[in-house]
Amino acid sequence: MRKPVIAGNWKMYKTAGDSVATALALKPLVANANHCEVIIAPVFTALKGVADRLEGSNIKVAAQNCASEKSEGAYTGEVAAFMIHDAGCSHVIVGHSERRQYFLEADHIVSNKAQAALAAGLTAIVCVGETLEQRDQGKALDTVKEQVVGSLSGLTASDLARIIVAYEPVWAIGTGRTATPEQAQEMHAFIRRVFAERHSAAAAESLRVLYGGSVKPDNISGLMKCSDIDGALVGGASLSAESFAKIVNYNG
Ligand code: PEP
Repeated sequence: MRKPVIAGNWKMYKTAGDSVATALALKPLVANANHCEVIIAPVFTALKGVADRLEGSNIKVAAQNCASEKSEGAYTGEVAAFMIHDAGCSHVIVGHSERRQYFLEADHIVSNKAQAALAAGLTAIVCVGETLEQRDQGKALDTVKEQVVGSLSGLTASDLARIIVAYEPVWAIGTGRTATPEQAQEMHAFIRRVFAERHSAAAAESLRVLYGGSVKPDNISGLMKCSDIDGALVGGASLSAESFAKIVNYNG
């Protein structure tokens, strides 16, 4: 049985104070959500404050990015995975399409970041997803396969047990245009097949694959009914505690 994961990506929104306030507002609203893991990903400057306030609760904290270097060093502006762990986080998002698009993060960089995250004791949420152009050209499956293989290259079998994949079609992120449950299910099943071919049937069976792209309180339950969708990575609708709680409590 794969435990679902509902993760909120707050992107570059909210000061440290606003992040703590939203986290504290969320806490009672999801306190009974034992059916899934709940994760929020605030900006770097808010991680420690949010993690401290959520200690002992059922909400875990993720960073939105980490350095690809494992050790400390002269890398101006970077934050190492072990520093994120030290701030009280358990997860980190790597390879988000905004990082791939604006910061030119290629698959090998995403793979290095995932490895650094795992070495630091974090769970890596590895994002993949095709653009609209790639989908329209019939290249969605090939693109996502290449990203899954490239972003997870160099990971050992035990590493793979500690990663989560998030399928986020770029055309559905922040656009209000969500993939249909059928489109998402097709890609999730495909990702699991790729995983089974490259690694093992057992690794594929236990891999959690989240869907991301305009997930809202009114479309989450349709998505969660699909057999290969193991949760959601939520952007815009996670910024409000009330709306994110409705998504977390999709079964209630
Ligand atoms: C995201 O940024 O990961 C995302 C899925 O955003 P949104 O839910 O706003 O589409």
